[in-house]
Amino acid sequence: MTKFEYLIIGGGIAGTTAAETIRKNDEKGTIAVISEESEPLYSRLTLHHYLKDLIPFERLYLRNDNFYKEKKIELFKGKKAQKLDVSKKEITLDDGQVFGFDKLLIATGGHPNQWQVKGEDEKGVFCFRTIQDAKNIKRRIEKIKTINPHVVIIGGSFIALDLVTSFVKQGLKTTILVRRDYFLQNRLDEECAKLIEDILRKNNIEVLPHEEVEKVLGDGKVEGVRLKSGKTLKAGMVAVGIGINFGLEWLKLAGISTNRGILANEYLETNIPGVFCAGDCCEFWDVLSQTQHRVGNWQNAQKQGEAAGLNMCGKKTIYETVSTYSISFFDANACFCGMTDLDGASFAVTRGARENGSLGHLFLKNNRLVGATLVNRLNEQSSIAALIKNKVDLSVVLDKLSDPNFDLQVLL
Ligand SMILES: Cc1cc2nc3c(=O)[nH]c(=O)nc-3n(C[C@H](O)[C@H](O)[C@H](O)COP(=O)(O)OP(=O)(O)OC[C@H]3O[C@@H](n4cnc5c(N)ncnc54)[C@H](O)[C@@H]3O)c2cc1C
Repeated sequence: MTKFEYLIIGGGIAGTTAAETIRKNDEKGTIAVISEESEPLYSRLTLHHYLKDLIPFERLYLRNDNFYKEKKIELFKGKKAQKLDVSKKEITLDDGQVFGFDKLLIATGGHPNQWQVKGEDEKGVFCFRTIQDAKNIKRRIEKIKTINPHVVIIGGSFIALDLVTSFVKQGLKTTILVRRDYFLQNRLDEECAKLIEDILRKNNIEVLPHEEVEKVLGDGKVEGVRLKSGKTLKAGMVAVGIGINFGLEWLKLAGISTNRGILANEYLETNIPGVFCAGDCCEFWDVLSQTQHRVGNWQNAQKQGEAAGLNMCGKKTIYETVSTYSISFFDANACFCGMTDLDGASFAVTRGARENGSLGHLFLKNNRLVGATLVNRLNEQSSIAALIKNKVDLSVVLDKLSDPNFDLQVLL
C-alpha cells in the first residue's frame, strides 16, 4: 500500500491551494491529490466567459500537468475516494486502490442536486458546475441557435445569473423558472430579489415564479417543457441550477461529524485529529461571527485551502476571514459579504430602495456589522468587509446607516 504524508481529496481550488501551501512549507513531504475530475485545476468563475466566447477553452485552466510534476504533487485524475478508515488512516478509491496517510484533507466541494422530472434524460438537459458541463452547454448552444433558440433555466440561483447572461449574449431567448416566491429566496430578502428580477426583465428575460416543470418534451432531444400550471414553453435546452449537495454519507460512516457540511473547528480540523476540511464542503467555527458557518465561494475555498495546508504542516493557523461573493450581470451587480441572514445577526438596516435601482441590507449584532447583501452597491463592499473584520462599534451612527448616501468609509 502506498502511503502519503499529506493526502488531499478533491483537486479544486481548496485542495490545490492546500497542496501548494504544504509544498511551500515542507519541501520533502509526500503529497497526493485525488481528483474525481479528469482535469488539472481550472476556474469555475470563468466558465461563463467561455460560454460567451470571451475567452478560448484553454484559458479556463489555472494549472497544467507540469505544474504538479514540478511541485512533486502526485495528482490522481479521474479517481474517486469512496471509503475512509480513520483508525487505519486509509482511503479506498473507486478502482480499489488503497492509500495510507498521516494527514488528510477533505476538499470535495459540492455536486449539483439532481433534477427529477419526467423526460429529464432527453438530450439537452444540463447542469453547470464543471468544465465538461460548460463544453456540453457550448456545443448545445451552437446546435440550437438557428433551429430552436430558446432556453429554460430551472432555479433562481447564482448559477442562473451566469447562465442567463451567457444565453442572452448568444442570442437565445431565456426563461427562468423559480419554484418559490422570488429569485435567490434562500439568500436574499424579497426587495433585493425583486430588484434583481426587475433588472432581468429589463433585459428581456422572462422570470416565472411559482412555476415548475412537469415534463420535458421532445423525442430524444429537448424541444420544450410542460409546466405544472399547464403552460408549455419552447426550449432547445434546459439548464438546471437547483443547488448543490455535499455527498457526505461515506464520511459520516467513517465517523466524521457533519451538519449540512463537514464540521470543523477554527483550525479547519474535523472531530478526527489529523483530518481537515476546506472549501465549499467545510462548515467551520467562524471566530468572527462565533457560529458554525459554511461559505460557498472561490475566495473562501482558496483561503481555507491555504489555512488547512498550514495547519496540516503543524503551523497552527486560525481561519478568519470576511467572505465576499460578488457577481455582475448585464449592467448590474450583487454582492454578499459575511453573514447574510438574521440567524447570525440581531437586526438589519436597509439602505436604498428597489425603485431607485440600488438596495442593500446591513446585518448587525451587538451594534457591530456582521454582514451585508448589496444590489448595485458594490462600491461599499470593501468598507463593509473592513468594518466587519475590525468589529467597529457602530452604536453612535446607527441612525445614520439607513441613509443610502451616508459614506461608510468614514467609519474606518
Ligand atoms: C458555474 C459556477 C460559477 C461560479 N461563480 C462564482 C463566482 O463568480 N464567485 C465565487 O466566489 N464563486 C463562484 N462559484 C463557486 C466557486 O466556484 C466554489 O465556491 C469553489 O469552486 C469551491 O471550491 P472547492 O475546491 O471547495 O470545491 P470544487 O471546486 O467543487 O472542487 C472539489 C473537487 O473535488 C472533487 N471530488 C468530490 N468528491 C470527490 C471524491 N470523493 N473523490 C475525489 N474527488 C472528489 C470534485 O469532483 C471537484 O473536482 C461558482 C461556481 C460555479 C459552479
